[in-house]
Amino acid sequence: MIARLRLQPADVGMGLTGQRVRDRLIEDLRGGGIADERVLNAIRTVPRHQFVDEALASRAYENNALPIGHGQTISQPYVVAKMTEALLRDGSPKRVLEVGTGSGYQAAVLAALGLEVFTVERIGDLLRTARKRFRALGLHVRSKHDDGRIGWPEQAPFDAIIVTAAGPALVEALLEQLAPGGVLVAPVGTAGAQTLLRLCKDADGAITQEDLGAVVFVPLLSGMID
Ligand code: SAH
Repeated sequence: MIARLRLQPADVGMGLTGQRVRDRLIEDLRGGGIADERVLNAIRTVPRHQFVDEALASRAYENNALPIGHGQTISQPYVVAKMTEALLRDGSPKRVLEVGTGSGYQAAVLAALGLEVFTVERIGDLLRTARKRFRALGLHVRSKHDDGRIGWPEQAPFDAIIVTAAGPALVEALLEQLAPGGVLVAPVGTAGAQTLLRLCKDADGAITQEDLGAVVFVPLLSGMID
């Protein structure tokens, strides 16, 4: 799986971007209950410091969200791990849709796991930067500049859908684009009261819902900007 990444020396990192700090982050994630070795391995390998501004690179392996411009953030590694684990649990999804590309880090983790990734971002500037990162790492990620609340109907259905910005309610169009047997993971709620939901669609189209706990995400907004 990780063989899909084309890593240069700058991606492997050193000092505060190197192996020791990454191993410490992985232990931190394990301590927080992340147990899926595939997920831990992907997070150890994907160079998170290449998904933030150079000035923040030295903080990339701290278990924190960091600013990426335009008032947005790259999610905390623990949250990326938890959402990815929730997507992979009981199943082996192949095609996954992400709403909210942001830095591109979550999409890169999914691509490193061997998934076929489709990602949608409403802020053109962030998407352009993320695309450069995918290219530099040799990652095949398909992306679209659009309001992700409409999903990607031409590419549906998806085995898994991950939403990385919080809306006040679940987006019906996204549930419709989920294949039977598929899983959707999304934060839902308003500022200060968001929960991470995991929804499964069974073979008959019936939905079951599980609450994975409180989270803090930037809002899912409508429309697009350059
Ligand atoms: N997955 C990202 C997290 C970025 S924060 C990462 O790994 O870095 C959430 C992102 O969702 C922001 O970039 C924001 O612009 C985007 N977003 C918010 N509403 C959106 C919408 N309706 N469609 C697409 N992207 C959206």
